[in-house]
Amino acid sequence: MLIFGLTARDTVLGTLVFPCNNCGNTAPHHLVRRTRKISLFFIPLIPISTKYLDTCSVCGRVIDVPRDQAEAAVTQGQGLR
Ligand SMILES: [Zn+2]
Repeated sequence: MLIFGLTARDTVLGTLVFPCNNCGNTAPHHLVRRTRKISLFFIPLIPISTKYLDTCSVCGRVIDVPRDQAEAAVTQGQGLR
C-alpha cells in the first residue's frame, strides 16, 4: 500500500520593517517561502508549488508576494512596495 500526502515547508527568508498597508503600523513583517511537495511514505518528493508570503506581526495580515519582489525585498533589506 502506497501512502501519498502533501507536505508544506516554510522557510523564513527575513524580517523586514516597513509600514503595513492594512493596519498602518511600521512593524516587522516576516517573509516566508512556502514550498508544497507531494510525499510518498512521508518523504517529500515532488515539489508542486512555491509561494512567497508576507505576514504583518501586528495585525497578522498575510499577502502573496511575487517571487521577484520577495527576493528583491530580502536582498535589498527594504519593505514591499
Ligand atoms: Zn499590519
